[in-house]
Amino acid sequence: MRVFWKTFGCRVNQVETQALRERCEAPGAAEAASFEEADACVVNTCTVTAEADAEALRLLRRISRRNPAARLIVTGCLATRDPGSVREAAPHAEIVGNAEKAGLPALLGCSPVPASFGVTGLRSRSRAFVKIQDGCNMGCAFCVIPAIRPALSCKPWPELLAEVNGLVAAGRPEIVLCGIRLGRYLSRDEAGRRLDLVGALERLLELPGAFRLRLSSLEITDATDRLLALMGASGGKLCPSLHLPLQSGSTAVLRRMRRWYSAEFYRRRAEAFLAAVPKAALFADVIVGFPGETDAEHAESLAFAEDAGFSGLHVFRHSSRPGTDAAVLAPLPERTQARRAAQWRALDERLRAAFAARLVGQRRVVVPELDGGQALTEDFAAVRLSVPAKPGLLPVAVTAPGLAAPAGG
Ligand code: SF4
Repeated sequence: MRVFWKTFGCRVNQVETQALRERCEAPGAAEAASFEEADACVVNTCTVTAEADAEALRLLRRISRRNPAARLIVTGCLATRDPGSVREAAPHAEIVGNAEKAGLPALLGCSPVPASFGVTGLRSRSRAFVKIQDGCNMGCAFCVIPAIRPALSCKPWPELLAEVNGLVAAGRPEIVLCGIRLGRYLSRDEAGRRLDLVGALERLLELPGAFRLRLSSLEITDATDRLLALMGASGGKLCPSLHLPLQSGSTAVLRRMRRWYSAEFYRRRAEAFLAAVPKAALFADVIVGFPGETDAEHAESLAFAEDAGFSGLHVFRHSSRPGTDAAVLAPLPERTQARRAAQWRALDERLRAAFAARLVGQRRVVVPELDGGQALTEDFAAVRLSVPAKPGLLPVAVTAPGLAAPAGG
């Protein structure tokens, strides 16, 4: 049986697909390069924006039209939130909600994955992603995630330790820990002692082997002094880049978004990170055109982001999600949203260009991708290598913006 896999959305969804694929690989389910040649298609959907919904539904319609004989299994956040829209797009789809996702391989004759979605990394790229936490119950006004993944759960420490050990033994040079609320990681160690994210990182950083750890998106209130101190003292083994969602640089808008920090608080923590961690690089998400955002608030937000020390931004236009508090608010005119989004994107380009220029003449350690040409520095700059290299930890000198050459020990 040939299986076509397609994943939309965040790192957590990507890791979950990876765990499912690994489980379905062994008993002879070969992978199909395209859905046209597949006997079964598994689509893991996202619903974080209206565009994410539309993209997934477009694919489901195409699969139904062009390969109606293939079995179609649809899972993920859209399938959980709105199974009706999935059925409408693909009436023959088998729908598997997030709560049953771990059992999905059974539909293909394979055994279920553990509820914590552990991966072996044997089929991953040079960077391996490990999901250590799931769920959020914060209720930000724009966000649909608490309606879909409301229960907080964490990978038990023994499983996390075994998974990371396995990835290091398999030669993965970079391991990225991810979760919906990564900072809420909580487990118990072998002696039954409480182990939070920093405690788990301390233990993982002690493992022998040539590897480094990276954190995926983290909330600003989880960037504690303990975490920054650990990162700063790790000598790059805990990568010095953080992705801390800002959403808005206007405290009034943050309040209406039901975020739990002020712009001033964010600035203080960002400064603490940049001061405490050598080679620190800071990235953030921003939401453009939240309902009711005035021109003055937009300008305030943009000005905040100009000088908060960011190396790059991920810019999202506000997308009204059914069932969220913001869904009942009148959206801003399309023209206003488009104009503001263009200003944010221009700022992002300036910040990224300045970051790339800052690195020139400096040394970094990169992890090359499997093609050997592209690589990622510890502070999350993408560079092209002058000489392709195998995946591993490779010291380089940055010779020009976006370019690096091997630099020896
Ligand atoms: S945006 Fe808010 S509600 Fe959504 S996942 Fe993040 S913290 Fe939870």
